[in-house]
Amino acid sequence: MFPFHNRLDRNMLRAYTARAVIMNFSRSTFPIKFPLVLSLFLAIACCLAISMPVLASETGDTSALPNHSHDSAQVQLVSDSVVQLSTLAEQHQEEPTEKPAPRGTLDFLMSSKYLAWFGMMIVGVVLLLLKGINRWVRLGMMLIAFVLFGLDYVFMIHPSPMCGVTKLFTFWFTRGTAVPIFLAIFLAIFIPSLLGRKLFCGWVCPLGAFQELINKIPFKPRWKQFNFGMFNAVRFALLAMFFLTFFDVKSYLAYFAQDIGNVPPDLLTAYSAYSVYDPINYFEQLHWGVSDVRWWVMMIILVIASLALYRPFCYSICPIGAVSWLLEKIAPGRVRIDRELCNNCQVCVIKSPCPTIKPLLEGKNLTLPDCTSCGECLSNCNRKAIKFGFTR
Ligand code: SF4
Ligand code: SF4
Repeated sequence: MFPFHNRLDRNMLRAYTARAVIMNFSRSTFPIKFPLVLSLFLAIACCLAISMPVLASETGDTSALPNHSHDSAQVQLVSDSVVQLSTLAEQHQEEPTEKPAPRGTLDFLMSSKYLAWFGMMIVGVVLLLLKGINRWVRLGMMLIAFVLFGLDYVFMIHPSPMCGVTKLFTFWFTRGTAVPIFLAIFLAIFIPSLLGRKLFCGWVCPLGAFQELINKIPFKPRWKQFNFGMFNAVRFALLAMFFLTFFDVKSYLAYFAQDIGNVPPDLLTAYSAYSVYDPINYFEQLHWGVSDVRWWVMMIILVIASLALYRPFCYSICPIGAVSWLLEKIAPGRVRIDRELCNNCQVCVIKSPCPTIKPLLEGKNLTLPDCTSCGECLSNCNRKAIKFGFTR
């Protein structure tokens, strides 16, 4: 006979059933739930990106329209400042008042974009120190980084690490007008990377976040122990080619760099054509020019590569990836193995997403593949032998 006779009993039955359903869902459907949540997010992100031109045209905000190149956007910024300055100068030419100072590197670093950027890194370091990272925390943080810096909504001109290296170099050596903008990007990436291994790449970079999110979708075949040396060689060869070509065309570049506020977009394309990075600059694709066939081809390649490999663009192309790989060797904040606690069970190697943890365990520090300080290996070790810290 059914044991619940009165109303109180029936309510208890309902409560037990609901609790059982919730617990069962959270325990047994993890493999189903996880890709579902991720796919849902990616679908929403794609819808947002695709609807961007509509929203932009409705609000009259042309900076959000697709196909505007990152360079054009940066030039627009500089151009606006130049126009603003000349208008102000005209207005006040008869009054002997002081000219407003142009924005310096520090002004850019104090803007909301960079404050959000530093905020993400601080949260990352706190989570690493408190060992508060698991797959879900990591997933959440990568989603936030991608939405903030990668969708072109919140901060219209996302931080492009590619510009932080290549454009800074070009403008610096040609005494160009936009040095403070690119110097700000460079400093905001390199100072934290000097403190902790790849803190920018692991906690802020929208392209790094995008690749990592894709990599979390279960997929076979997956290569974790790929030939990092070969990838690294390609990355450094590209950087060397960029520097060498630069000195060949330096005098032509100087013409543009010194008057960048007045460079028409077409000429700007010619200006950047010398750069070996231009055709493979994935940060340009984060302006979501979805009507462009090239955008689809490049994104499909990146998605397939990211399903099979951990951060393929970072490991084989990105100039910041190359330079910060060198900085990794001296950054004090890093993941360390406590040899007394480690029993070499290899659980961290199996469970962590990167190719780094295996050589780290073997003590191959010089040839270590990039460690993005993501912290996933910390929670994968049952013996608590993996730690993140600034001292030994
Ligand atoms: S290596 Fe380049 S693309 Fe990858 S996370 Fe770092 S800055 Fe971003
Ligand atoms: S070793 Fe791998 S899992 Fe551990 S923090 Fe570095 S990148 Fe992340």
